Amino acid sequence: MNDYEPVIGLEVHTQLATESKLFCSCSTKFGADANRNTCPVCLGWPGALPVLNSKALEYSIRVGLALGCEVTDRLKFDRKNYFYPDLPKAYQISQYDMPVNKGGYIEVESKGSGEKRRIEITRAHLEEDAGKLLHEGVVGGSLVDYNRAGIPLLEIVSEPDIRSPEEAYEYLVTLKAILQYLEVSDCNMEEGSLRCDANISVRKRGETKLGTKAEIKNLNSFKMVQKALQYEIERQINSLENHESVVQETRLWNDEKGQTFPMRSKEDAHDYRYFPEPDLVPFTISRSRVEEIRKTLPELPGQRVERFTQDFGLSRYDAHVLVQDKTLAHYYESCVQAKANAKLASNWIQSELLALLRTRKLDIRDCPVKAKDLAGLIRLIEEGTISGKIAKEILPEMFESGKSAEEIVEKKGLVQVSDPKLIEEVAERVLQANPKSVENFKAGKKQALGFLVGQIMKETQGKANPKLANEILEKKLGH
Ligand SMILES: [Zn+2]
Repeated sequence: MNDYEPVIGLEVHTQLATESKLFCSCSTKFGADANRNTCPVCLGWPGALPVLNSKALEYSIRVGLALGCEVTDRLKFDRKNYFYPDLPKAYQISQYDMPVNKGGYIEVESKGSGEKRRIEITRAHLEEDAGKLLHEGVVGGSLVDYNRAGIPLLEIVSEPDIRSPEEAYEYLVTLKAILQYLEVSDCNMEEGSLRCDANISVRKRGETKLGTKAEIKNLNSFKMVQKALQYEIERQINSLENHESVVQETRLWNDEKGQTFPMRSKEDAHDYRYFPEPDLVPFTISRSRVEEIRKTLPELPGQRVERFTQDFGLSRYDAHVLVQDKTLAHYYESCVQAKANAKLASNWIQSELLALLRTRKLDIRDCPVKAKDLAGLIRLIEEGTISGKIAKEILPEMFESGKSAEEIVEKKGLVQVSDPKLIEEVAERVLQANPKSVENFKAGKKQALGFLVGQIMKETQGKANPKLANEILEKKLGH
């Protein structure tokens, strides 16, 4: 396996978050009754004329600028011809030789390791989506739903620069974050707003020529992309080792079986007989328009990682986890703005908060605890009003009741005991009740102290200030 090097390129189709389709005014809303969102243009009736959605163009330029692409001066659309029942016109309006964006790159950093690799982008072009065939649950045959026909897609094609399934995964996570930050797509994979095909070949290390590639489709999650690539790398290496040739073909990933299966041998671009779309004349995009769009670009995830590490003293790893989801990053920042300690807030969000959201199957967008309330809880820990242990019990209650930490602490009398007199009394009782531990400690067994502190915490139902309990015990034990 180590004698071979995988060569991977990804094609990502992202649905642009416009309200209407790419060339007509039909709604793009997901979940409508079949064929409700259709009109003569997206159904391909003769004589119906497409008109470009300017918002879709703007969004595609936003992506191009964020990825460092060269945005074209002149926009042209082409017809990609093929027959399939989900394509009523028998062609798809796409872009062939003059895509809206060319070049560019994505920097991939594995789990905040600081080691960045640049994956080049070949192009990012606009095209319309096809309809959808429905086979399941249909009595006596299949149905077709054209609600998706004409939905605006941006196809982002990478160079074959990716060298491992893990890197493919990181690339996709990074790209998704960028698209989310740009607010050009909801990136909802379940609703088909983000789809990915992978091209993969293998070659002997040191070889510069590309091997024969297979294209894998039907990849519905980033984890599936990673698994399918792992499988395909092994399959191709086995073929080469057995002196069989790898066939250029499209393969489908079957997640249940954990295997790819051949779907069809792959057409080349010339099989589609692209030609210029006669109903949409080429036009010039002014540089001033592009520069206007550039001014609206938000802070991007990579920039935010740098800012979080510099301003808040977070590790690159922590910054990465928080930044990957725009809403999570915003939640974190709101917490810090509400005067929570930056490092504590990062820890609490990544461990306790995300775990609670996960068990309740909630997204951070639906988090019942507001950022300022989590900040309130963290401040109570910092001020020594409550212990971390008590805080962990309070947070689920905040989830259920929507109450602030202060309210819960006050109502339940959970305020941390920091009165040395009270703790001394408890410490005295604990020492008398545990002579063996005292003996052990005096004999040099330091862990006995931890046990004794634990007994104090137990006696006070977790309310004793652990730092103070420690100090008092040490003093009493003559340290
Ligand atoms: Zn329409």
